Amino acid sequence: MELNKLDIKSLSLEELTAQMQRLGEKAFRAKQLYEWMHVRLARGYDEMTNIPKSLKEKLEREYAYTALSAVTVQTSRIDGTKKFLFALADGNRVESVWMKYRHGNSVCISSQVGCRMGCRFCASTLDGLERGLEPSEMLDQIYAIARSTGERVSNVVVMGTGEPLDNYDNLLRFLQLLTDENGLHISQRNITVSTCGLVENMRRLADERLQITLALSLHGATQEKREALMPVAKRYRLEEVISACRYYFEQTGRRITFEYSLVGGVNDTDADAAALCGLLRGLNCHVNLIPVNPIEERDYVQSERRAVLRFREKLEQNHIQATVRRELGRDISGACGQLRRRYADEKAGKQ
Ligand code: SAH
Repeated sequence: MELNKLDIKSLSLEELTAQMQRLGEKAFRAKQLYEWMHVRLARGYDEMTNIPKSLKEKLEREYAYTALSAVTVQTSRIDGTKKFLFALADGNRVESVWMKYRHGNSVCISSQVGCRMGCRFCASTLDGLERGLEPSEMLDQIYAIARSTGERVSNVVVMGTGEPLDNYDNLLRFLQLLTDENGLHISQRNITVSTCGLVENMRRLADERLQITLALSLHGATQEKREALMPVAKRYRLEEVISACRYYFEQTGRRITFEYSLVGGVNDTDADAAALCGLLRGLNCHVNLIPVNPIEERDYVQSERRAVLRFREKLEQNHIQATVRRELGRDISGACGQLRRRYADEKAGKQ
């Protein structure tokens, strides 16, 4: 992104209208531009057939126009899942995933380049945080995928690389643009934001009273177990995190999703399941069990299938709804965040 220029795709329709006024243009131009960007998903001004050339030249001079380009696209031969690696204007790379479900197509996007949360099993955080993504860069992952597949996107999950609540203002603006009735108009109920548990910002998000689903990455049912897998747990104690979840439900009426990555021998025993049942008792929630995706840099292993099913059964016996996440695109991805790293390694000649 050109630093001195305003990022036109991150502006609300209102702001864009003010900009057109500033340029001495008619207000309806803002509406036209907004539609080209957020409904027709134009990759640049040249595609905008009803915008006069003189205005296009002005826009070119005044604003930066984000349009991600796919560096690689891998398609799973098993289930059609596609994994995209995108180049940002500054040369950074982010990855996004397109998944086909019976109930609609879903896109998983990244919210930051890298991550500073340090979860032990996660590949995205190994090199730390580079920067947060702009609202336009989050949107454009979805737009580029919608264009490339030619299919409608109905669900969006912010579960790719990065901690969305560590990029709060940009995330919020992104959510507003994505759900805007003048834009792609994705329903708030079809959006999930996943967090490792940044308590202040969970509460801030609750106060926005959006209808999006909040997913909380739990991965341990006691303070000690959680700390061992997630350094961020030292900063926010488990009770505080759960109380923020409760608050989110109170403010929004939206049921919390808890993500629990099962790591063989680490957090998948009967005692772990019992602790989880105790922790979540009385909470309106759903648990997503994710067999951990082992990454090279760490020696964590997946739980055995038997242990996964037993774990789920224990939860269900305690009336806690749980699903084992289906692993889509097994043949193309490896663990979350690995694609971007692999690309960086190849460039550095490490293979
Ligand atoms: N920072 C956010 C969102 C990104 S990670 C968060 O922590 O929730 C999305 C989910 O994938 C999180 O639950 C994360 O803990 C999990 N995850 C990351 N690496 C994983 C791996 N190798 N195997 C299984 N789950 C993983």
